[in-house]
Amino acid sequence: MQTFANYINGEWVNGPTFENRNPANTDDLVGLFVKGSAADVDAAAAAAEAALPAWSNMTGPARGNILFKTAELLDQRFEAISAEMTREEGKTLPEAKGEVRRAINIFKYFAGEGSRMGGFLVPSERDRVHMFAIRKPVGVVGLVTPWNFPIAIPVWKLAPALICGNTMVLKPASAAPLSAWRVVEALHDAGLPKGVVNFVAGSGGTLGSALVNARPVKAVSFTGSCEVGNWLHAEASKRRLRIQLEMGGKNPTIVLGDCDFNAAVENTVNAAMFSTGQKCTATSRAIVEDSIYDRFVEALVARTRKLKVGNGLEAGIDIGPAVDEGQLETNLRYIEIGRKEAGEPVVGGNRLTGGAYDKGYFVEPTIFANVTEDMRIAQEEIFGPVLAVMRARDFEDAMAIANRVPFGLSASIQTTNVSRVFEYIYRMEAGLLTVNLPSAGVEYQLPFGGTKDSSFGPKEQGPAAFDFYSDYKTVYLKY
Ligand code: NAP
Repeated sequence: MQTFANYINGEWVNGPTFENRNPANTDDLVGLFVKGSAADVDAAAAAAEAALPAWSNMTGPARGNILFKTAELLDQRFEAISAEMTREEGKTLPEAKGEVRRAINIFKYFAGEGSRMGGFLVPSERDRVHMFAIRKPVGVVGLVTPWNFPIAIPVWKLAPALICGNTMVLKPASAAPLSAWRVVEALHDAGLPKGVVNFVAGSGGTLGSALVNARPVKAVSFTGSCEVGNWLHAEASKRRLRIQLEMGGKNPTIVLGDCDFNAAVENTVNAAMFSTGQKCTATSRAIVEDSIYDRFVEALVARTRKLKVGNGLEAGIDIGPAVDEGQLETNLRYIEIGRKEAGEPVVGGNRLTGGAYDKGYFVEPTIFANVTEDMRIAQEEIFGPVLAVMRARDFEDAMAIANRVPFGLSASIQTTNVSRVFEYIYRMEAGLLTVNLPSAGVEYQLPFGGTKDSSFGPKEQGPAAFDFYSDYKTVYLKY
């Protein structure tokens, strides 16, 4: 069994290990990972600090070449990395391939930015004064990532951080560290100078605390739960670190009577159930206009019954397992809460057992109908394949229901009425909106992130990523 070491100052560092198991078949040990310590984080931060001057002084195009090379290596290893992701996280192989492709494209996008990244050049009021602002890196950054997009999220933090000239310490999720490790391996093979990227796996509590307190660290980018994000924010604020948090959601899909009915059913089921509901942008509330409510629920149930749940490496599977036992228990606990609040689910509601199911963490895609706003399943993030369907009198009622949650990550509307589309675009309290598409499914060329309790700090991805990973230096020059 391969042991995947930590990567500090360009060296692979060994130590005691923890297991990474396949959630679809817990007999399948994916690998052993070195359990890093607070001292490892300190060493990693010191290495990043030492590497900073040379890396930040390298030209942008030269840094970009290393990112292009990394993309090329990931492309050569595409099939193997995708299959490993399915084994460690549980998502289906096509979903894993889509995510690895996205990671490759993110590297290429930011590699190109190395030749483009500009500042400001504006006219001065004064004679013969040339004034401009250039971008400079923030310094050593800490990156903390979740398990649900185990390659895309690490890459959408690493790539902009690198091209801006920062150096970094990456702490991946313990439930799925291999995909991020493969990225670090590719960066190493692409010739990244030692110390620029450091990788320390292990317990979030121990490493997170060390990271936020490591003296060289100037900024922390975190994606994960609100609970951990809020704690990190409080700690980081004590040292006035720059911080960026992407956290939970309770995303709505509003379905109006004038929608393209079949497309709306497909989009809702896709957003609620695919990836086992484990997308931060997944739909967990379908808010359906009264005029089509009964017919829509019936169609959702019929479509959901056709979904095949199983090992994501097998062809024809739509939905894999929950990522681990803890997430499975959360799903089952919320299903019981839903039963008490809304009655029997209209479809699903059980753990799947028997045969191969006994080896993994499988749960039936589950839908509760007649959910109302006072219920916990209408307000709290579950992060599983559990959909709450709510009845709205009309568009205005649907908008009010959609906005009355503490979260504001993504939202979707299904309608053919262009005026309502614009009303929704301007009034929906979410950072990421879709129209006649699933609420989940983002591209890397535009800003990504939420509002309200879902997010804090500058957006990720696209040109907006530079707002977090760089700072301006302003120059006034008399000639
Ligand atoms: P999590 O438990 O908060 O973990 C996220 C990361 O934080 C992991 O690497 C974890 O390490 C680490 N961590 C745990 N305790 C920490 C601490 N005290 N200090 C610093 N880091 C710590 O979240 P998750 O269960 O992996 O992910 C699911 C959550 O992520 C959901 O709420 C989902 O909505 C959210 N999410 C949000 C977005 C977005 O863009 N808004 C995207 C994806 C996911 P360990 O793994 O070792 O515990």
